[in-house]
Amino acid sequence: MPIDREALIAFTQELVRIPSVHDPATGRNEHAAAHLVADRMRAFGWMPELVEVAPGRPNVIATIHGGQPGPTLLFEGHTDVVTEGDPAEWSHPPFGADLVDGRIYGRGTADMKSGLAAAMVAAAAFKRAGVALRGKLVVGALVDEEDGMIGVRHLCTTEVGRELDAAIICEPEDNELCLEQRGVVWARFRVRGKMAHGAMPEAGINPIAGLGRLLAAAPGLERRLRKACEKSRYLRPPTVTPTIVQGPPPRVGVPQSNVIPAVAETTFDIRLTPGIDDDGVRAELEAICREVAAGQPGVKVEWEPVNAFRLATKVDRSEALVEAMVRGVKQAARRAPRYGGVPGSTDGTILRMQLGIPIVTCGPGDRLIPHQIDEWVSADQIVEAAKIYVASALNYLEAE
Ligand SMILES: [Zn+2]
Repeated sequence: MPIDREALIAFTQELVRIPSVHDPATGRNEHAAAHLVADRMRAFGWMPELVEVAPGRPNVIATIHGGQPGPTLLFEGHTDVVTEGDPAEWSHPPFGADLVDGRIYGRGTADMKSGLAAAMVAAAAFKRAGVALRGKLVVGALVDEEDGMIGVRHLCTTEVGRELDAAIICEPEDNELCLEQRGVVWARFRVRGKMAHGAMPEAGINPIAGLGRLLAAAPGLERRLRKACEKSRYLRPPTVTPTIVQGPPPRVGVPQSNVIPAVAETTFDIRLTPGIDDDGVRAELEAICREVAAGQPGVKVEWEPVNAFRLATKVDRSEALVEAMVRGVKQAARRAPRYGGVPGSTDGTILRMQLGIPIVTCGPGDRLIPHQIDEWVSADQIVEAAKIYVASALNYLEAE
């Protein structure tokens, strides 16, 4: 299926030139990028739906009907990008989308405006293919992937979302087929003691001592999670990383050198591989609370999730979507598929957890480049991704 390389690269550049960082402080958000996406969809002859998930922050959804009954496939992308940081550190302007030696530079080039552009151009080629198709192809350009993922969470509650049967997540993975994604749980532990004068520790219960035991227990928790989770060829093993330590936390009091605080807190950033469920993770976190509390009379230890659990995801190679993509890579890229794993979670995590549908993450861009200074994407990889998407969608939705 021919892909117009120049148009695809130009569209990627247009998208990158819109600084769609969601920043409540400056009022910047996805609005202009979403509207550029919608305008291009209209130019393709589609009727995009703009659904405001938060004020000025619309998901853009377009549906291409195959003509015969059948499954619904989603090409998923997001319109937000993370901050560019200090522009002075960039060798190319962060929103310039400079094309140099086959690479486009700028924030969002890899993560993931090139993937979104490739998905849209692929869907247009899919529509022109002129073969009998069944089911539906949905293109979704969602908001807020980089933060609370409110865009995809909203999509899951809509009729379009509930009808989905499978999704290709167009995130930067070097065009590898990623059937597994690591999960993430942020757990905030709260240790309660008793406030007292620092000169008379015997009059209080110091929660900071408990906090110390919690931090010391992190490696043990990591070992237990590694045992509970599956070993994966494509994912790094589970990790437990303390990221925040506060005693007292700001809302509870002012840190003072001669005051034993009443409360101390720490947050663990926990990354998981497949094989453990919600209850399994909760049981481990409860156990560590009990263990730490047992070490100091009078201290109370509890935990709470900082946001909803995003467990690791995995789909089977026998899924129809995976088979369609394996064939798609061979047809489009004229090579055997390469497999990989996603180090973090994506909007696909939410689709997999909430809807139970198979997802494959596959898109243009170096896996490690997102969120870095001088983010870039290879123009060749964008074109290859578009070809893979269209071939895979045709395999998945071609009528018998
Ligand atoms: Zn992304």
